[in-house]
Amino acid sequence: MKKLNAVGRIALGLVALAASMVLIFDLIFGLLPSESDTQRIVRQKVSENLAIQAAGLLQARDVSAIEATLHSVFRRDPEVRSIAVRRADGLMVASAGDHVRYWVAPRDGLSTLTHVIVPIQADGVRWGALEIAYRASLERPLLDWLNGPTVKLLGLLTLGGFVLFYLYMRRALQHLDPRSAVPERVRVAFDSLTEGVLIVDSAARIVLTNHAFRRLGGERSRDPIGRRPDDIPWLASALGADTGEPPWHEAMRTGKPVSARPIAIGANGSQSRKAIVNCAPVLDGGGGVQGCMITFNDVTQLEAAREQLVDALADLVTSKEELERKNEELEWLASRDPMTGCLNRRVFFERFELLFRTATRDGTALACVMCDIDKFKSINDRLGHQVGDQVIKAIGTLLQRAARPGDLVGRYGGEEFCLVVAGRDAAEAARFAESLRARFEAEGAASVPALFGSQVTASFGVSTLGGGARGPEELIDQADQALYASKHGGRNRVTVYASPDASLPMTKDEAHAA
Ligand code: GH3
Ligand code: MG
Ligand code: MG
Repeated sequence: MKKLNAVGRIALGLVALAASMVLIFDLIFGLLPSESDTQRIVRQKVSENLAIQAAGLLQARDVSAIEATLHSVFRRDPEVRSIAVRRADGLMVASAGDHVRYWVAPRDGLSTLTHVIVPIQADGVRWGALEIAYRASLERPLLDWLNGPTVKLLGLLTLGGFVLFYLYMRRALQHLDPRSAVPERVRVAFDSLTEGVLIVDSAARIVLTNHAFRRLGGERSRDPIGRRPDDIPWLASALGADTGEPPWHEAMRTGKPVSARPIAIGANGSQSRKAIVNCAPVLDGGGGVQGCMITFNDVTQLEAAREQLVDALADLVTSKEELERKNEELEWLASRDPMTGCLNRRVFFERFELLFRTATRDGTALACVMCDIDKFKSINDRLGHQVGDQVIKAIGTLLQRAARPGDLVGRYGGEEFCLVVAGRDAAEAARFAESLRARFEAEGAASVPALFGSQVTASFGVSTLGGGARGPEELIDQADQALYASKHGGRNRVTVYASPDASLPMTKDEAHAA
């Protein structure tokens, strides 16, 4: 049989107490009328009524009607053994039942429970009496007692009281503060936790909260014992309308913990807080869910610190990119000639060194092209240094645009430039130099307004690894020799260095033919 729960046991105890009290008070003070008392009163009343009726019939001298009335009472009431109307002189005028046998006149003329006597008056004097002999109730004492009001009252009190007490206690206990049932040291332990703690029973009603939980809802929020967590306004709004089933319901439904649910408390207010909710179902020995322990981890500060960190990281990335950009800019500036944007001598030689080593190691082609503006001094002299600068910039731009990625374009001297082009043999390098020469001849003056209508040209000297140079300087020197030959040959031309043994460097056309 299923054991009665705590509420049922309390209700039963209360009913037992109430019933005992009724019994004791009844014993001492006789609160309830006994069965015999009731019977006595009823019998007395019946007899008196009958006596009045008999007196009426006697006035009418209707003895047979009296007889009929007595018989009818005798028949209808099984309690009545016999009944008679007797005159004062002792003569029985009418009777029903074996009255002689059952009637025993009470000693002092007063009625008893079994023998009731009621005087009959006629014309103001006592005429006689009505006598009724009743059955003794002691014949069925237990049955009578059981039928008595005490037993009935106790029965009803027990049954009705139990139901009512049970319902009342069940409701009342929900609103009773269960903290008194939780030992003080346990409450102190829960209150010392920095995490908010909420414990609900199997009906999802709150049975315990700790200080940190109440603080989460604001200092003024009252202890919500007996309520459902979903009914706490700040918690309901923190859960939001569209998050579906609250996590503690899920934990209790599945019997499994639900962890790391983020909530935003007071999101619309100024003091918004962020928390992480974890729910662990409380299980009994049989695995049944008895409730749920819900914890709230306030991560507002942590979240703020994380956001700061993310911002700082983003700033760091931005400043790193800025730094890299600045570094690139600096590196570019440090490696360039500020007027033309061509490589300065230092960097030009560093890179040339590398290209030379790679080409000689791999046996690939490498050419050096020297370029010098023709009769530049006269431009300076005639039109001024500023115009001279513009011409230097114009050829610098032209050379850089024409170079391929990986080629080097360096400002070698005042109006002298040196190009290093990889992967081109003598003929290809000569063609390349020729194309530069032709373009400068065609476009050089056009880019300088002061030279409008006139012409500016440059001479070129080309050398390749085929010339037997053992280092970059020697290759430049060979190109320089070829350039000198171009100047000597009438300027505005390309000369390819032939070999150290050749008496004269090759002209552009000779290089093509070679
Ligand atoms: P050639 O055809 O033989 O080369 O005749 P040239 O007049 O060009 O002779 P040279 O190459 O010897 O003259 C170079 C002149 O360039 C000398 C110098 O005054 C001038 N110069 C050097 N650097 C700069 C510069 O940065 N700006 C200007 N405006 N002139 C410069
Ligand atoms: Mg020069
Ligand atoms: Mg010159």
